Amino acid sequence: MPRYDFRCRQCGETFEVTRPMSESGAPADCPAGHDDTVRLLTTVAVGGRSPAPAGGGGGGCCGGGCCGG
Ligand SMILES: [Zn+2]
Repeated sequence: MPRYDFRCRQCGETFEVTRPMSESGAPADCPAGHDDTVRLLTTVAVGGRSPAPAGGGGGGCCGGGCCGG
């Protein structure tokens, strides 16, 4: 589950909220109880594109006969 950084504009506190992506836009309350918070831009590892595997696939070995017997 991704984490989101928030900052309270009333007391300046920054805090993290772990929540599903579907609620990423929902407001969060400061730990001190304030609700005037803004979500900070963070780099979350979830929700982006997963890194492509290196190499092309479609092997060069088993097409030939070196492992097929
Ligand atoms: Zn606060």
